[in-house]
Amino acid sequence: MAKTTHEFQAETKELLNLMIHSIYTNHEIFLRELISNASDAIDKLHFASLQNRDILEGNEDYEIFLVPDKDSHTLTISDNGLGMTKEEVIENLGTIAKSGTKAFLEQLQKAKEDNAEITDKELIGQFGVGFYSAFMVAEKVTVVTRKAGETAAVRWESTGDGSYTIEECEKEGRGTNITITLGKEFYGDEAEENFLDTWNLQNLVKKYSDYVRYPIKMNIETQETPRDDEGKPIEGAEPITKVEIKTLNSMQPLWTKNKNDIKDEEYKEFIKNQFHEWEEPMEVFHNKAEGNVEYTSLLYIPAKAPFNLYHADYEPGLQLYSRHVFIMDKCKDLLPNYLGFVKGLVDSPDLSLNISRELLQQSRELKTIGKNLEKTILKSLERMLKNDREKYEKFWAEYGKSLKIGIYNSMYTGSSVVDKLKELLLFASSKDGKQISLKEYVGRMAEGQKKIYYATGTDRNTIEKLPQMELLRDKGLEVLYLLDPVDEFAIETIRKYDDKEFQSISRGDLDLDDAESKEVKKEAEEIAKTNDQLVKDIKEALGDKVSEVKISSRLKSSAVCLVADAMGPSLSMEHTFASMDNPMFKAKRILELNPKHDLFAKLQILHANGKDNAEFKDYCDLLYTQALIIEGIMPENPVDFADKVAKLMAK
Ligand code: ADP
Repeated sequence: MAKTTHEFQAETKELLNLMIHSIYTNHEIFLRELISNASDAIDKLHFASLQNRDILEGNEDYEIFLVPDKDSHTLTISDNGLGMTKEEVIENLGTIAKSGTKAFLEQLQKAKEDNAEITDKELIGQFGVGFYSAFMVAEKVTVVTRKAGETAAVRWESTGDGSYTIEECEKEGRGTNITITLGKEFYGDEAEENFLDTWNLQNLVKKYSDYVRYPIKMNIETQETPRDDEGKPIEGAEPITKVEIKTLNSMQPLWTKNKNDIKDEEYKEFIKNQFHEWEEPMEVFHNKAEGNVEYTSLLYIPAKAPFNLYHADYEPGLQLYSRHVFIMDKCKDLLPNYLGFVKGLVDSPDLSLNISRELLQQSRELKTIGKNLEKTILKSLERMLKNDREKYEKFWAEYGKSLKIGIYNSMYTGSSVVDKLKELLLFASSKDGKQISLKEYVGRMAEGQKKIYYATGTDRNTIEKLPQMELLRDKGLEVLYLLDPVDEFAIETIRKYDDKEFQSISRGDLDLDDAESKEVKKEAEEIAKTNDQLVKDIKEALGDKVSEVKISSRLKSSAVCLVADAMGPSLSMEHTFASMDNPMFKAKRILELNPKHDLFAKLQILHANGKDNAEFKDYCDLLYTQALIIEGIMPENPVDFADKVAKLMAK
């Protein structure tokens, strides 16, 4: 086969450009990325060999070799892993198939456009762009690879300028050699970062790749002073140069070590290395379990929630090992969906290596491990909330939504986990700027207070201005602020905390039973009786827009407000459903009028002229629209509203 030239896919070009113009300032990590690819390739080979031993070609000594060559100023990273066919080379190195990398480019673009404070480094941490990082230090990258079990090998080569060449070639052993012809600034004694220096390379392997499961080897030159027959150094003799193959990494998987022997730093380095994390994890859980099912788990919560955590393309899952041998990446069946943000690995001798994905999903062992992991995680979070509030609040800011979704989803799964999850909730509150748990709320409830009051809105400011807030504020009742649409769904699922029901300030009856409130309520009922016809006619004027018109006992200085029926969804839930293209769930709207407001008197006067007079109808409509706007809902016909207001103003 002759040598052919191919263009990189557009996205790849873009990525290469970014690499070459160095969005990473940390050049050295290219080595980690390539070693990790090599180790993955050996994992794949090993896994495939369980089904077909022939592909090992009689060589089971897995290894990764580093060859720095001062003459050609190249560094070769070679592995005897699975290798690639020509088609796979084109597919894997010529295009960016991974949606994650595409998303990365989009995010980067967006961040640039928005001038956001998000740095490349932060973004990269979420993606890890692997192989292409070689172009940060390379003038040219040459890949020679032969797939295990095949005879043909291929050479791929690119200078990162938009195209690559590919040709058939010979390669004796299976696997892949990646040869980087280093850029001038990356070799030689003068170089700040010298990637041909064996000392530097050894340190880099220790730093980033110490736990790689396969030996990373390199020829190391040592100088030895010649010795005499008695073993004493011969003085003045020229030292002898010896070359030895040295394994640079310790290889012992961190999770197999005893917890007490592991330093924090080691966990952090391991996680960065093993899972391509950029930032230090927020929390690490390392557990060994010996019971029905034996397993070790090393889980962690990433410092930042992945940007796509709540999108369909987010791929949760843990790495699975059996007796320290890799089985699969992203095993989804271990943790419930809502804990999809937890990453890490599970190693269990009770799982069979040879098992298919489908069978594994049904395995009883996996289910047992999953249940235990969920318990462990929730228990740790509970502890964090109790012992390290600051840290927990950071956790909450990143992942609180996940726990709320967990509560909501338990409606379908009937999970008893809700009891644990509700203790982990935090809400903003009307008392002070701090977030509080339900336990804290109940702990400081006013005397005689029976319900847990909450308000929904997009931010604190909007909620505080709601007419419905005024009364509760005056009575000194604390109100939880539900600022995330999912909050109310979670609250609806829990229904009660410590036997206290949740009560929205914008739904149903507030049920205040202090003497004053009772008095106000009685008064409102009286007024309702005497104004029975007026209320009926307002309802008639508004038609289907509202399900009921009421004389309010919750309003103080505002003229109107809109509330939802206690049964059925709230107005904000309706809004959420609508935004999810699910307009079926409509709130039952109740328009409440403040009988003490001057406007009420005006309505009475207009009504006296008959329910069909145009002005009365306009007033009804304006009242309703006002109430909508207060709730943050756009009126159905804004022009009509503006016209009516203008007419009124011109009077
Ligand atoms: P990632 O490793 O995150 O999938 P990369 O861009 O680093 O992305 O690599 C792209 C793909 O190229 C890998 O998924 C793998 O299939 C293939 N690949 C890279 N390096 C090797 C290697 N040393 N041996 C075999 N395949 C490799």
